[in-house]
Amino acid sequence: MSRILIVEDEKKIARFLALELQHEGYEVETAGDGRTGLERALESDPDLLILDLMLPELSGIEVCRRLRHQSDVPIIMLTAKDDVSDKVMGLDMGADDYMTKPFAIEELLARIRVALRKPRQGAAEPAAPEGVLTAGELCLDPARFTVTFGSEEIALTKKEFDLLKYLMERHGKAVTRDDLLRDVWGYDYAGDTNVVDVYIRYLRHKIDDRFGIKTIQTIRSVGYKFQYEG
Ligand code: CA
Repeated sequence: MSRILIVEDEKKIARFLALELQHEGYEVETAGDGRTGLERALESDPDLLILDLMLPELSGIEVCRRLRHQSDVPIIMLTAKDDVSDKVMGLDMGADDYMTKPFAIEELLARIRVALRKPRQGAAEPAAPEGVLTAGELCLDPARFTVTFGSEEIALTKKEFDLLKYLMERHGKAVTRDDLLRDVWGYDYAGDTNVVDVYIRYLRHKIDDRFGIKTIQTIRSVGYKFQYEG
């Protein structure tokens, strides 16, 4: 039986979610503020976290950020705002998915099932060491989770790293936004496909602009490809 931790300060929503999830056969724990939520998440190591964005004590973003230093538990964020920047921020901080309130409980249940099906890194036996990817002086090491240009390290968020890795693994090949959403964001992403473009911009800023090279090329009306030009 999967255990789910709900971190939500609105008591009505928390109670409603707890009842629905218990009804579905999940074991449920709740926390009413961010600090308690973070403690519970670290102590009881749940299988999934439902995390409200606006919380007293510690915001959902902050809980997510801190939790990600120690845990790869799937996190579904709840946000009251239909605001792309909040969603991007949440995903950037390592949330796996988000839902905008109000939402249909069936949709949340479906997303929980998807999130629980995904293999957790480090949960099973360690994966075979992955190869280092290089292009010119750019070097991505999946095992060490580092990206360097020459001797300089490039600080990337997890999502930026995953995106770059995906593109580098397909060096010279075109990939569509849908490919990226499906394989990098990892779920049937509804709407806001511009999240891909936002992240491509982040990467270009951190790599191309900084080192005066070209890495990710736009292929009009298709998507992108990684093609190194020093
Ligand atoms: Ca709230």
